Amino acid sequence: MNKAIFPGSFDPFTLGHADIVERGLRLFDHITIAVGINEQKSGWIPVEERVRALRELYKDEPRVSVESYNGLTIDFAHEQGARFILRGLRTHKDYEYELGMADVNRKLDAHIETVVLFTEADLANISSSVVRELAHFGRDIRPWLPTGLEYRIKDIKD
Ligand code: ADP
Repeated sequence: MNKAIFPGSFDPFTLGHADIVERGLRLFDHITIAVGINEQKSGWIPVEERVRALRELYKDEPRVSVESYNGLTIDFAHEQGARFILRGLRTHKDYEYELGMADVNRKLDAHIETVVLFTEADLANISSSVVRELAHFGRDIRPWLPTGLEYRIKDIKD
């Protein structure tokens, strides 16, 4: 079985992320959305709430699971028995970052391949940070999130 992990912060998970998962399912039998825990900062939405909301979103899709993880992405890929790391690419800035990460990960384990999908043009400008900014100024963020993804707002910091 071809298993991939899709690691990221997903703070919040956007239409851009959902598109990568959807298209990734054409390549892989199973994708684990891997919500990285950053020891340095707690983020906007608590990690447990990010995981809960995503599990709810994908509850009817047995080929997608959602986990949080600490530490190195490559170690988590191993733990999951995944041979692929799925990522998305929007801009040249993403490119440089993704290239560096893929290179390091290949040096750590040449058997785990990073697969990068180009963004859908309409979704190229959607980022978690833009969505956080909109929320901060009181705008409705639902148009930027996949239908059915609901975060418990009381848990979210301003
Ligand atoms: P990270 O903090 O690891 O960059 P993110 O949650 O910001 O995590 O993003 C996870 C992955 O999704 C990254 O590979 C990022 O480039 C990709 N991504 C984010 N937004 C989009 C988008 N609109 N279209 C395609 N890929 C995206």
